[in-house]
Amino acid sequence: MDARLEAVRDTVLARNPGESEFHQAVSEVFESLGPVHDRHPEFLEAAILERLCEPERQIIFRVPWTDDSGRVQINRGFRVEFNSALGPYKGGLRFHPSVYLGIVKFLGFEQIFKNALTGMPIGGGKGGSDFDPRGRSDAEVMRFCQSFMTELYRHIGEYTDVPAGDIGVGGREIGYLFGQYKRITNRYESGVLTGKGISWGGSLVRPEATGFGTVIFTEEMLKTRGSSFDGQRVVVSGSGNVAINAIAKAQALGASVVACSDSSGYVVDEAGIDVGLLRQVKEVERGRLKDYALRRSGVSYVETGSVWDVDATVALPCATQNELDGGAAARLVRNGLLAVGEGANMPSTREAVAVFQEAGVLFGPGKAANAGGVATSALEMQQNASRDSWSFDHTEQRLTDIMVGIHHRCASTADEYGDPGNYVLGANIGGFVKVADAMLAQGLI
Ligand code: GLU
Repeated sequence: MDARLEAVRDTVLARNPGESEFHQAVSEVFESLGPVHDRHPEFLEAAILERLCEPERQIIFRVPWTDDSGRVQINRGFRVEFNSALGPYKGGLRFHPSVYLGIVKFLGFEQIFKNALTGMPIGGGKGGSDFDPRGRSDAEVMRFCQSFMTELYRHIGEYTDVPAGDIGVGGREIGYLFGQYKRITNRYESGVLTGKGISWGGSLVRPEATGFGTVIFTEEMLKTRGSSFDGQRVVVSGSGNVAINAIAKAQALGASVVACSDSSGYVVDEAGIDVGLLRQVKEVERGRLKDYALRRSGVSYVETGSVWDVDATVALPCATQNELDGGAAARLVRNGLLAVGEGANMPSTREAVAVFQEAGVLFGPGKAANAGGVATSALEMQQNASRDSWSFDHTEQRLTDIMVGIHHRCASTADEYGDPGNYVLGANIGGFVKVADAMLAQGLI
């Protein structure tokens, strides 16, 4: 890493002790930025990086609620409003027991660059809670969401901060959150949240967008080598919204998706994952992958090891951060891997990324490859602002154009900075320069 940047990085790490995921995300970005600062000394002079690493605002709050047996439960809520140089803070809410400030800050930091790469007018933010929706009744989830919004409402708004979903927050949770916001504020402010239901201000394609976008970005990478998804053997991790829609899109492009996972194990289905059954088990019944294996013949369910033990030519990690380590990466490379498209945020460890890059595997980092979700959220905001709703085909075409555009921006930035095919460098520099220019223009903010 460039010595000037190393000093800034060390200060950031020391100022934010114990937040290992945030440290990882910051260090990865800093490793790419040396050449930018050679060309743009004004960014260093104006301390853009120091400012970028300090969130504009961080909100931490108590979320009290009662469970179905009448007992009082307390969770912690977060919203980190990281950067608003390009637009209102934009990013999802994650409800998962692992959530703490370091996770929210890593996600918010990534979101700044991701959102810049989309070309849409959105800043970066992220939030969530250590609440675990798993095993909770709809009524408990509703009471939690209502309590969460009873604090959050004062911090958000269509021109201020626009939350959406992430792990543990889907259409059901966005519905409860929106209902409570509307009740407290007495405003039908559609643009305050995205990921809404289609009959009350949501956008077609938003549910599919992250998974579809990941596959579209990966297809663009494959095209640079004269290849495509057609005939590829694909392994996907996860089995939530992103994974399911990535599987559907990869199969529509002619790939065979042979495995996917949840936090208890993975399934191998050599005939190709049955997306209809997977949706029924995971989305309708809110069940586990084990149930998928029980209901389909010829499927094995494996509880030990990792889904990355299954050979693939294309890997789509769509579960969570640091789920694919150096050992798994080396194994995949040995077994003929061509490309990786990250549907999740930072699913590959730094060692894994190094293994992929050294082996010449096409590697699409999450902040580029999974930007289709937030980009379609920005399309939802556009529809809300104009009180319009677009057709599925029109919205999908917009998503495709945006993903092809992000691929082009990353690839051409990597070329410009002398490292062709390095999408990590292209995404980090491409996103950074856009935000840094805006921050410079707006004075000392
Ligand atoms: N949570 C998603 C992400 O990581 C989507 C955010 C949004 O739609 O605002 O980008």
